[in-house]
Amino acid sequence: MVFKGLPVSKGIALGKAFVYTPFTATIDKHNISADEKAEHRYRFSEVTKKAADEIKKLQEKMSAEDTDKVGIFEAHEDILCDETIVDEILALINEESHNGEYAIDTVYEKYAQIFSEMDDELMQERSADFRDVKNRILRIWAGQEEKNLSQLDHPVVICAHDLLPSDTATLNKKNVLAIVTETGGNTSHSAIIARSYEIPALLGVSGVMASIQNNIAVIVDAVDGDLLVQPNEQETAEYEKKKAAYLHTIKELQTFRSIDPVMADGTRIDIFLNIGSVNDEELEAAAYTDGVGLFRSEFLFMQGKELPSENQQYYVYKKAVETYGERQVILRTLDIGGDKTLESMHLPKEDNPFLGCRALRLCFQKLDVFKTQLRAALRASAHGNLALMFPMVGSIEDIQKAKAHVEECKQELRKEGYLFNEKMPVGIMIEIPAIAVLADVVVHEVDFASIGTNDLCQYLMAVDRLNSNVAMYYQSYNPAMFKLIHQVSLAFEKAGKSLSVCGEIGGDAMAVMAFIGMGIKKFSMTGYNVPAVKRVISKLTMDKAQQLVGKLQALTMACQIEELLKAEMDELLT
Ligand code: PEP
Ligand code: MG
Repeated sequence: MVFKGLPVSKGIALGKAFVYTPFTATIDKHNISADEKAEHRYRFSEVTKKAADEIKKLQEKMSAEDTDKVGIFEAHEDILCDETIVDEILALINEESHNGEYAIDTVYEKYAQIFSEMDDELMQERSADFRDVKNRILRIWAGQEEKNLSQLDHPVVICAHDLLPSDTATLNKKNVLAIVTETGGNTSHSAIIARSYEIPALLGVSGVMASIQNNIAVIVDAVDGDLLVQPNEQETAEYEKKKAAYLHTIKELQTFRSIDPVMADGTRIDIFLNIGSVNDEELEAAAYTDGVGLFRSEFLFMQGKELPSENQQYYVYKKAVETYGERQVILRTLDIGGDKTLESMHLPKEDNPFLGCRALRLCFQKLDVFKTQLRAALRASAHGNLALMFPMVGSIEDIQKAKAHVEECKQELRKEGYLFNEKMPVGIMIEIPAIAVLADVVVHEVDFASIGTNDLCQYLMAVDRLNSNVAMYYQSYNPAMFKLIHQVSLAFEKAGKSLSVCGEIGGDAMAVMAFIGMGIKKFSMTGYNVPAVKRVISKLTMDKAQQLVGKLQALTMACQIEELLKAEMDELLT
């Protein structure tokens, strides 16, 4: 069986499927008879024992792999064994004749609620642990095995209807051969993370979950966009060969990874990196990039059940700036909302989350969270070349308001005697069309800007970037995109301010040729795209790039632009 999908992170993988369906309990409430009471009591004690075994195993695993997380499971053990909770559950079964699942849900929810309303932040955070333990018990009660992407213990191909960014952010990437989902598009955050981990990913594979089971053999061709379920021997041999040839090409391309990004006529282009964490694998790219053009700080917030404190954030940002020394690190402030949620922050469900209280808008509502991040960033600026960038800016008022909060934080830190860079550059992402149209005004309000083409395309073309059903309308090569980006580039060039492209198309070697012709000389991308972009830069001249822009201006459709860019790149590389 062959399925079609969108290859969002290139590569070929052969392996066994791991079907990921996160457990969600559906609780029904009913009265039980005297006989059933005995049965539910017995079942509750059996389920509790099994939960205790699971937690013990997790403790053992974590003490070998990640000691920081052992404490979490020790706390879960305490909750599970808490006598008051156990007595209250049994009382609901015995005295109120409630069914076991309902009794478990009610008692755990009560304590989760009590803790979430406490004044002490640490206590509030315990409520998530109560819910976690409750889910574990209810899952075992429902007879389901534990599935958790951070606990994969052998290499698998993850198949899921959808993956939340937090699923992808916490997965044990050593054991992920490839990712296949039914939803998602090229610029969904699952796609972005897959690319940065260099895991082949095929998204938008419609209907695949109905035809796939655990451990079934699959081949993921995230080059041509095919998923083969239960391939035969001949197909397996063919794809083994294709994979070897693909890896060989990638290896050749790697020779461009560490060259200086200098054009054939000597013009220097800056190649920056997009990162989501400061782990060693991401920072390894510091050796061959000019800085960090986009540090998606929200992934730091997604890793735990608690919001990172000012000090925790400070150490992470400090590590990034110290790694890059004099080179710039652009920290993007929290961009939550849209497809990114936080376990540590309860956010109301919105009908149109991408048009809702996202990123800067949310930060304005949660000023304590925003200012904690600004303070941590300012303190880290004392250790290197840190710049701050605001996402989802829609108006001049947004910029002025955000800058005013930076000033407030500076005042506080001065009073408290902290060191920071008084002149830390402050910039914005240009990803809402309104702000792109106003580029000639905006440029006077900021030190720099970076074009977030993923969202710019979503909002300009009115296409949900995650909805595979409308993926063909998400046209990054639409002439409107190039026209608008050109206009922004001219405004920034005239004002002599720095402008980069940090959306996914900023790492697309074909589009980069055109952007260079428009005057943009700074690009930020995942490490994976660096070799291909540097290769094109090394062969391109400014004359050629400008001629390309001239040709492009005459075109009216995305398919024509794509065709032109492909032809120009082929010519350049042959
Ligand atoms: C963008 O929108 O282009 C961007 C870089 O930000 P994100 O993909 O994180 O929304
Ligand atoms: Mg964006």
